[in-house]
Amino acid sequence: MFDRILIANRGEIACRIIRTCRRLGVQTVAVYSDADADALHVAMADQTVRLGPAPVADSYLRGDLIIRAALDTGAQAIHPGYGFLSENPDFVDAVTAAGLVFIGPSADAIRKMGLKDAAKALMAQAGVPVVPGYLGADQDADVLAQEAGGIGYPVLIKAVAGGGGKGMRLVERAADFAEALESARAEARTAFGNAGVLIEKYIERPRHIEVQVFGDGHDAVHLFERDCSLQRRHQKVIEEAPAPGMTDAMRAAMGDAAVRAARAIGYAGAGTIEFIVDASRGLRTDGFWFMEMNTRLQVEHPVTEAITGVDLVEWQLIVAAGGRLPLTQDQLTITGHAFEARLYAEDVPAGFLPATGTLAHLAFPDTARIDSGVTTGAEISPWYDPMIAKVTVHGPDRATALARLRQALDATQVAGTVTNLGFLQRLAADADFAAGQMDTGLIGRTPALTQAAVPTPAQCAHAALIAAGLDWPTPWQGFALWQPISRNVTLLQGEEPHIVTLTPMAGGWDARVGDCTVRLQHDAQGWRADGVRLPPAMRHGDAVTLFGAGPLTFGIPDPLDRKAAGAGGDAVLAPMPGLVAQVAVAVGQVVVAGERMVVLEAMKMEHVLRAPRDGTVATVAVTPGDQVKAGAALVTLEADEAGTAR
Ligand code: ADP
Ligand code: ADP
Ligand code: MG
Repeated sequence: MFDRILIANRGEIACRIIRTCRRLGVQTVAVYSDADADALHVAMADQTVRLGPAPVADSYLRGDLIIRAALDTGAQAIHPGYGFLSENPDFVDAVTAAGLVFIGPSADAIRKMGLKDAAKALMAQAGVPVVPGYLGADQDADVLAQEAGGIGYPVLIKAVAGGGGKGMRLVERAADFAEALESARAEARTAFGNAGVLIEKYIERPRHIEVQVFGDGHDAVHLFERDCSLQRRHQKVIEEAPAPGMTDAMRAAMGDAAVRAARAIGYAGAGTIEFIVDASRGLRTDGFWFMEMNTRLQVEHPVTEAITGVDLVEWQLIVAAGGRLPLTQDQLTITGHAFEARLYAEDVPAGFLPATGTLAHLAFPDTARIDSGVTTGAEISPWYDPMIAKVTVHGPDRATALARLRQALDATQVAGTVTNLGFLQRLAADADFAAGQMDTGLIGRTPALTQAAVPTPAQCAHAALIAAGLDWPTPWQGFALWQPISRNVTLLQGEEPHIVTLTPMAGGWDARVGDCTVRLQHDAQGWRADGVRLPPAMRHGDAVTLFGAGPLTFGIPDPLDRKAAGAGGDAVLAPMPGLVAQVAVAVGQVVVAGERMVVLEAMKMEHVLRAPRDGTVATVAVTPGDQVKAGAALVTLEADEAGTAR
C-alpha cells in the first residue's frame, strides 16, 4: 500500500477519497485553486499545494503542476477522482513517465473507451450487444442523414467524445435532422474540441442500467448493477441499487457482458459499463445494449458500496499498488437496497439553472451517508460543479430504503442558495417511482415535479412570523388590555409578493393570508399553525428559509434598505413589485424624514413610501402608472451634507 497519495480533484469526491485514506493510514495531499483555499478538502488533507487561479484551465486541469506537486510532496500515486483529468490518457502517460502511479486504468484502456464510436466497435467485436446505429468515419451531413433514415426515426445524435449529456440530440423526424446535427456538432466542438458524432437508434421509454466492474489486470469481476433511469436532460438525479424488477437471468446476462467488456481491454481499476435497456416488456435478456464505458469511479458509486459492503476507493488503492482483487465473483453479494440523491445548487423551475451563493446553513440527518465537500459558510462558486452533497440511504428492502430517502431529504436543511431539494423530495414521493415504474423520460413528462412550489397559507404565516421578528413565545402577554394592532408583512417569492397580516391573539397571532386565516400559537413545545407543529426555519440576511418537507425561501423587502441603495439611505426602493399610484415629490424638492414620496399599489393595497431622512430629491425615476420591480430605486436623495456615501 502507498504511504502518501495526491488527490487531483476537489469537492465531495476529494473528501471521500481522503476519508478512506485516513482509515487505511495513507497520508493525503490536496491540491486547490484560489477559489478553494478555504475548502473542506483542503482542511481535511495532511498536506496542501496551491495550483493557481480559479478557472479549471489554470488549476485542476494543470496536469504539469499536479505532477510537480506530487513529486515535491513525496506522494507515490495520484487519484484523479472523477471529471477533470480522470479520463485523460495523456495525463496518465505523464504521471507514469514521472515515476508515479495513476490510481485508475491504463492510458491504453482509457484511449480504447474514450471515444464512444471506437468503444462500441470494440464491444461489438467482444460479443457485447451494442445499440444499433452508425459509427462511420464519413461525417458528411448528407451521409449522416441517410444513415439516420436507414436506422429509422427516432434517432439520437451523440458526440463521439461526449459526456455529461452534452453534444446529444434526439431527432424525431427526418425534417429536423440537419438542424439537430448542426447544434450537436457545435456543442461538441466547444465542449470536447471534437465535432465527430455517431447516430443511434433511440430506445423509447428506456431504462439506464449500468454495471460496476473492477479489474486488476489479471481478472475482472462485477459488483452488480445500478439503475440510473431518473434523469433530467440525460443527467442522473436519483440512482439506486439493485435495479427494481431485476431477474437473476438478466443480472447474469448483464454482469457477464460487463465482465467480458472489461476483460476485452485487460482492465485494471474501477469502471462502469453503461447499458440502455428496453423495459417496455419487462427486463429481458435480449433487451439491453452497451452505450459506453466510464473508465473511472462513478459519481453514484456509494449505492454499490451500500449493498455490497465494499469500499471501492480502497479497492482502487489496492489494485493500483499492485494487489489482486480482494474478493472473487462468488464472494460478492447484495444486501438490501440503496438510493442516492444528488443535491445541487440549482434553480429547477428555471430549467435546472446552476446557482451560486454562500451557504448560510447546511445540516443533514445522521440516518444517511452524506458525501459533501462543503459546510455552513462555504460558497458555491460559479467556477465548478454546483453539487452540494450526495445523500445515500440503505435499507433491507426497496420500500424501506425509499422511505428512509424521503425522511433523509425532509430532514436536510440548506439556506443561502437555491437548491433542487424540493424537487428531490417530490421525486422521492412519486408514485411511479415508488412502484419501480420508471424510465429516463419520467421527469420530463411530469411537470408537477419541476414547477415552483406554491407556498401554503401556513408556510406564509410561518415565514411572516420570522420575517417580523415575532417568533418568540407569547408575544402579547401583558398587552391584552389594549386594542390589538395588526401589522402587514410582505414576503417575496421571486418577484411575487405574499402579504400576511398578523393580528395579536392570546398566546400567538392570527395570520391572514389572502382569504385564509391561520392561527399561530405557542406552547411549551414551540409554535404551531392551526395545531400543526411548524418545521425548523431560520432568517438569514434579508431572507427566511423554512426547512422540512417542501422547503421554501422568501425574500424580505426592506423599504429603507441602505445596502441596496448603494449610497446609504439615499434611495427609496420598491419593497415589492407594483403599480406606481402617486408621486408626491419632484427633483430639487426639500423633504424631511418620513415625508410621503411615492404611493405604490400592490396586492390591492396601497403602500406609502416615505423619505428615509431629511434631504433634497436628486432623481425621480417613475411616474404614476409605471409598473416597477421589487428593489427598483424610485426616488433618490442628494448625498447628505457630509457628502459621504454611508
Ligand atoms: P457519472 O457518469 O459518474 O454518473 P455524470 O454522468 O453525472 O456522472 O457526470 C458527467 C461528468 O461530470 C463526468 O465526467 C463526471 O465525472 C463529472 N462530474 C459529475 N459530477 C461531478 C462532481 N460533483 N465533481 C466533479 N465532476 C463531476
Ligand atoms: P454521456 O457520455 O453524456 O453520459 P451516454 O451515452 O451515457 O452519454 O448517454 C447519456 C444518457 O442518454 C443515457 O443515460 C440515456 O438516458 C440516454 N441515452 C443514451 N443513448 C440512448 C439511446 N440510444 N436511446 C435512448 N436513450 C439514450
Ligand atoms: Mg453516460
